[in-house]
Amino acid sequence: MIAHFPKPQRDELLGSILARFIKRQGIRDDKIALDILFGNRKIVPSPLLQGHIGELHANIGHLWQVEPADVVERHTLLPLFKPFIPAGRYKMLQTNLVELALNTGTLRSGINASILKWPSQYHICPECWREQVQSQGYTYWQRLFQCPGVESCPDHGGKLYNSGVSLSSDRRHQFVGTDSVHIPSNKDINSEHKKLQLSSMVRQLLDQPLPSVTLLQWSTFYLRLAKMADCLDGARINHLKITHQVQSYWKRGWLDSHGLGLQEKPNWLTAMFRKHRRPFTYLQHIAVWLALYPEQKRAAEIIAEAKTLPELCVPLHQSRYKQSESDETKTEKREAWKQILTADKELTLKAIRQTPQGARLYSWLYRFDNQWLLRILAQLEHRFW
Ligand SMILES: [Zn+2]
Repeated sequence: MIAHFPKPQRDELLGSILARFIKRQGIRDDKIALDILFGNRKIVPSPLLQGHIGELHANIGHLWQVEPADVVERHTLLPLFKPFIPAGRYKMLQTNLVELALNTGTLRSGINASILKWPSQYHICPECWREQVQSQGYTYWQRLFQCPGVESCPDHGGKLYNSGVSLSSDRRHQFVGTDSVHIPSNKDINSEHKKLQLSSMVRQLLDQPLPSVTLLQWSTFYLRLAKMADCLDGARINHLKITHQVQSYWKRGWLDSHGLGLQEKPNWLTAMFRKHRRPFTYLQHIAVWLALYPEQKRAAEIIAEAKTLPELCVPLHQSRYKQSESDETKTEKREAWKQILTADKELTLKAIRQTPQGARLYSWLYRFDNQWLLRILAQLEHRFW
């Protein structure tokens, strides 16, 4: 039974805690370390989303009294995605990390994270690093600095430094610690204000348990944000103006380098201001908040606000179909439908839908003018059934 386990530091990655344990115990064989920690020699370390936490807990629970789910929350990157995906799906991913490992496929489909540019090497803040040495006598990998998009330290205001240590070890079963890092002696270059704000926002997502907000609540949220940012033309969202604002705030180079480029049409930003059919990542949300929110707000405030909103019921995706945008079109479609009905009073609904024009009209009305169509059909029920 394990007799000593290192004290986990706030915001330390789980793999970093385990690497410190292995070093202190003087264990040289990766598989022996796995056996002691997990009771399972087949585990492959995953620096940012370490799984098999239940097995770990069975072996060290007596020394580190924490629920496995809390280990996920405090020492992996998963909580970054929580506010942006449905609660049930988040729970599923969390359970996955506790019981097994989260494979990339599950992660991709679960949080739609494939647009993120995941780091290949660990990043550190040289100032934090010096403080760790002074106060603890050792260093560790900080979770915040490995999050895609985070380029500066919110505490010291400086740019992060690439440690040169790869996130994927040459040794398949090794937990990688901080031993080989040599920090630069030159003074930090101050980071831009907006990048610091972004880092702070990411930290706010990691630091506190935040609620999940449904996709349709986010849809309502972005409709309101468009209004607040003066990006509505009447009832219609001005996507061009939104794109322009986001692009001029972040600059094209930055957006491209983070996988957030807006050159394609339609792009992720346009999709964000329509009805949400899939989740967006924290980086997309934060990039938009910082560029469009009229005043500075904390991530928790914004998420709490979104959580209180009703789910979007107006089908925003209508805007994809130009003809559906005007009331005129609606009137035309209704008229055309009525004409078919009056032209041949014996015609059944089935027969109408078998003609190309009837089928087109029916599916349009069904989608965009559903209430009206159902009312008409109800009135004519005797004719149709
Ligand atoms: Zn720092």
